[in-house]
Amino acid sequence: MNRHLAKFTWPEVQAIDKSRAALVLPVGAVEQHGRHLSIDCDLYFAERLTDLALAGLSDRTPAFRLPALAITKSNEHVGFPGTFWLSASTLSAVVHDIARSAKASGFQRFVLFNCHGGNRSLLESVARDVRAETGLAVFNIFPPAMVPDPVPVSADEAELGIHAGDWETSLMLALDPSRVRLDKRDCFYPKRTSEVLALEFTGATHAWLTRDLSPTGLFGDATIASAERGHQRLGALVPKLTEALAAVCDFEFPKTAA
Ligand SMILES: [Zn+2]
Repeated sequence: MNRHLAKFTWPEVQAIDKSRAALVLPVGAVEQHGRHLSIDCDLYFAERLTDLALAGLSDRTPAFRLPALAITKSNEHVGFPGTFWLSASTLSAVVHDIARSAKASGFQRFVLFNCHGGNRSLLESVARDVRAETGLAVFNIFPPAMVPDPVPVSADEAELGIHAGDWETSLMLALDPSRVRLDKRDCFYPKRTSEVLALEFTGATHAWLTRDLSPTGLFGDATIASAERGHQRLGALVPKLTEALAAVCDFEFPKTAA
């Protein structure tokens, strides 16, 4: 079943039963990923993970994907060559316009399938704005947070391995090793400067730029990465992503009095 909407003709798009159909926008990034991963890492994951998730759906589940949004909000990596970004206001405007187009094509369910952590807070805000403005049902999917890591890692890696570390490097070794420079892998954790202010995941954080904390752009241990660790993670992650897309097609808000 063809799930790439861009390969349809317009009458074929028109003929899709939109009552349950989910329209998925893969959201990537083109930005530094340490000295060992290609700068299209998040873009590649956005496309591959979307396709793997869609491939698990039954033909009765109508989910379709758009071409990926390649360049997004990566300015935390400013100063590293090969990093390209849209400002928060530009990315917000772009996603709004794509959502308006989805609505004009008749879709009612719109999914932001985002593989770049730096987009996360913005896309959650944009999703709610799009919902309020257009009436679309809008969903955010962020693969790295979908399942507990099935591979044991150190406390440092779990807390600080947030960029180009074991998780991303292992996934890439499993999916496309040509994007990994094995001999350039390294291990680097930023120094904790405060007991209470963290990088993310807690109630008190600071707005960091990568160059404030890491000389190579790496946060994590890429040296422990392997294709096998990547396959273990994909084995847990991909069925959950498929389940999430199926849930989007089945989703209904409860009937309220309002
Ligand atoms: Zn990444």
